[in-house]
Amino acid sequence: MINFFTKESKLIVIFFLTVIILGSVLVYLSINNISTYRELTEKKISEEQRDLAKQFSTDFQNKMEELVATFERLIKKDSLINKHWFKNTDAIPEIKQAIVMNKNGVFLWPHFTFANSSVKKENSPLIYLNKIKIAQQNEFVVKDYNTAEANYLSALKTAKNASDSTYVFNAVSRLYLKLGMNEKAFKMYSKILLEFSYTTNASGFPYAYFSVNQLLKINDPSKNIEIQKLLKLFLSDLSDGKIPLNYSTSDLLARILEWTAQIEKNKDILKIEELVHHVSDYLTLINNYKTPIEEFLNGENLKAVDFPIGNYNMLKPVSGITDEVLLFNKTGLNPVGFTIDLEELFDLVKQQQIKNQTRFENQIELVNYNGQNYLSNSDLINFSEFSPIFNSHQIKISLKNEDIVNEYVLKRKMLYGIGFVLLLGVMSFGLILLVQNVKREKQMERLRADFVSNVTHELKTPLTSIQMFADSILLGRIKSDIDLNRYAKVIVKESEKLKRMINNILEFSRKENDKLIYQIKETNLTDLVNITIEEMNYWLEISNFKVIIEIEQDVWAKVDPEGLKQALSNLISNAIKYSVDTKKLIIRLIKKETKIFIEIEDFGIGIPKDKLERIFEKFYRVNLKENETTSGTGLGLTVTKDIIKAQNGKLLVESTLGKGSKFTIVLNLIS
Ligand code: ADP
Repeated sequence: MINFFTKESKLIVIFFLTVIILGSVLVYLSINNISTYRELTEKKISEEQRDLAKQFSTDFQNKMEELVATFERLIKKDSLINKHWFKNTDAIPEIKQAIVMNKNGVFLWPHFTFANSSVKKENSPLIYLNKIKIAQQNEFVVKDYNTAEANYLSALKTAKNASDSTYVFNAVSRLYLKLGMNEKAFKMYSKILLEFSYTTNASGFPYAYFSVNQLLKINDPSKNIEIQKLLKLFLSDLSDGKIPLNYSTSDLLARILEWTAQIEKNKDILKIEELVHHVSDYLTLINNYKTPIEEFLNGENLKAVDFPIGNYNMLKPVSGITDEVLLFNKTGLNPVGFTIDLEELFDLVKQQQIKNQTRFENQIELVNYNGQNYLSNSDLINFSEFSPIFNSHQIKISLKNEDIVNEYVLKRKMLYGIGFVLLLGVMSFGLILLVQNVKREKQMERLRADFVSNVTHELKTPLTSIQMFADSILLGRIKSDIDLNRYAKVIVKESEKLKRMINNILEFSRKENDKLIYQIKETNLTDLVNITIEEMNYWLEISNFKVIIEIEQDVWAKVDPEGLKQALSNLISNAIKYSVDTKKLIIRLIKKETKIFIEIEDFGIGIPKDKLERIFEKFYRVNLKENETTSGTGLGLTVTKDIIKAQNGKLLVESTLGKGSKFTIVLNLIS
């Protein structure tokens, strides 16, 4: 029966099974690992986003506290009364506008008056009041403008304060307009704006407002440049708080814009429009927070007391806009407050956040809270509230690179892929080695089998001749002493041959069992080589060898003499065995610098190039037609090489097929 499962196929099957099982386990593990890895990465991102949101919220709160502290310092330094202190708030971009009030709830900054609220009525002289009364009668009832003018002017002489005088200037200007005397009216209004612009009437209403209103009505293009100058002056005073704002300011501003719209743009017009917008902002501020502040001061605005920052409470504007609040402090001598711009503050805190080191890059955006944002929290986007003060907004934290998880997973997959390919590579390499090993084993087995039959044959030949010659001697068949001597010599030489062969086998077996011991000593190589040649001489002679000997005298080396002798006789014996036609042998012993060379050169069958390495392997014999009949063990060169190696030497071979071989033993000279 054919043994289908040979030893080698069994091994290969086991190996393949191991590879398949191991590979499957690995693939299974890596697939599992990759899906867990995705989950873990996503979890890590979500965690980071949550941390980032928390951090943002804290930073935002801190920033507001910092702002309040900065604002407080500013107020203290500038002691509030200084009307210019508010300009310093411009240096803090997160502070949009500031508000300062007095104890009675009057707006000091922006300067805003409600008629009758803050202006003390001056006591005008009776005579002045009478003249004014007559003038008004003539102007509005009788419509006798000349008499009216005369009375106004005589009232002016009795006026005791700026308010009374300005009243007359204003009234007379009005009369000039009614009389069509535009030039005179213009001059008079200019005078009011240039000299009495801060003067108010008995109700606290600034005369400048009337003047501006009337000037805008003068339809005379030649006056435009002068009017622009006067408007600039008036608006600057309004914006600096020198002329107070009131409920009619916004109408007047609208009229100014109507007027500028008709005129070709120039530097002054642009400046005027800029100032109008500036003042409009103050009016918006007052509009937005006047009522909330009043309610708060009266203790009615309950929401404001939630989430205080120090002494500051949060007031929301009436306009309903959500990206601004007023932080207001009513506890001080002067109630004060400032509005903050959410966008500015958000950007500032965001800058701080960007510096935070996180593994994944996230972006933070400000979004309006629409009540649904939480639903999306699963898609690696985090929506969170960051401040109870701005509860209509949320921050949205999302990955800068949405594909980052896929990229990470892909990288991991590639890593596994490479690992897997490597593993397969290593396994395949192992398989190749295994197959090679099995092959070598088989070859060895064959060589061993050959060896046994070779050895038997090798032993048999000399033993047969020993027995034959010994028998002849015993049976007394030898006729002369010369023959006896010849027969005895054959017995000795054949025994030596046997001894050499057995020594080779023993040497090899000792080497295999690590029991080889050499006795290294200083040896005269000249003598050693000569003795060996002499011992081999019998064989050389009966084989008809021509031997050329070139030996240097007195060459010494540290070697094991017995071993070296065996090596030499192995090489000479091979030269004899593997020479067929040309039976010539050259033996050299040469000293060169620190080295000694012993060369055994024959002109025999030679060795094929590709077998040169292999001849030193155990049991190996070259398969050539020429040496078919030559027997051997395949151990001679193995043992020879081992012996030379043990003497710290080298065994080299040069050979040409059909021409001959040269074996060289290289040894170290004794220094
Ligand atoms: P063997 O007992 O076969 O001679 P060796 O180990 O001494 O074993 O040599 C191995 C083989 O190397 C030999 O079988 C032979 O084929 C080859 N070989 C050795 N020496 C020579 C030589 N001088 N010329 C040609 N072939 C040689």
